[in-house]
Amino acid sequence: MNLKGKTVIVTGSSRGIGFAIAKAFAAKGANIVINDIKIPDETIEEIKSFGVDCIGIVADISDFEQAENLVKGAKEKFGTVDVLVNNAGITRDGLLLRMKEKDFDDVIRINLKGTFNMTKHASKIMLKQRRGAIINLSSVVGLMGNVGQLNYSASKAGVLGITKSAARELGQRGITCNAIAPGFIKTPMTDVLNEDVKNAMLAQIPLGRQGLPEDVAKVAVFFAENDYITGQVVNCDGGMVMQ
Ligand code: NAD
Repeated sequence: MNLKGKTVIVTGSSRGIGFAIAKAFAAKGANIVINDIKIPDETIEEIKSFGVDCIGIVADISDFEQAENLVKGAKEKFGTVDVLVNNAGITRDGLLLRMKEKDFDDVIRINLKGTFNMTKHASKIMLKQRRGAIINLSSVVGLMGNVGQLNYSASKAGVLGITKSAARELGQRGITCNAIAPGFIKTPMTDVLNEDVKNAMLAQIPLGRQGLPEDVAKVAVFFAENDYITGQVVNCDGGMVMQ
């Protein structure tokens, strides 16, 4: 897909990987819908500085109706929804025996159900257009599991299931659906980890450095631009997981 003038929704994009993805699509000339649970004005202004149009829509994507209104708002403003990046996600880490039921439910509701909500609402528009690209943020942890992240790894493995099933269902109408599995990326989500955990993660990375949000953003643009790749997972992890 040529991204110039197209409409891209990035969920959870006021910071971190989502914001880098929004900027990468704006640099390609796409109009951007920033979504988050709160959106600073500077975020919108920075996207507009690429010479594209940008709106912010505050919505909790884990809520079915709020997700629907987000997609409707994008369509009302720009007339189409061409690319959906399901990026919003949370962690509530803890060992299994200490993990509270709420921590499990919240992570599944936002990371997995939120991806379902947005994919369902956006694909309705894409099916009519016979064009679209859906890009889901999974994680290497969804592939290999992790101590203290049973809830998160379950949600991210589930995102891979959504990705492959949606790719099979929507492919006939020219819609691709792919996933990115980032490793250890420098964002507010990982900045809170203690130094021991960070060093243990770094020791597992053959390329010897933490990834940057921009490394992940390049993969998202690649998926959107290529119309003949669907149902795939690309690890963006400095070599942490090799399959
Ligand atoms: P982040 O915490 O910096 O940003 C996530 C954003 O999502 C936040 O702005 C947050 O407000 C928003 N959000 C949370 N719940 C929301 C909801 N219900 N509705 C709308 N927005 C919501 O995280 P990040 O590190 O930039 O991660 C982005 C994505 O990449 C997540 O899905 C995460 O699981 C995934 N990921 C990150 C890493 C990493 O190392 N940082 C690794 C693998 C996967």
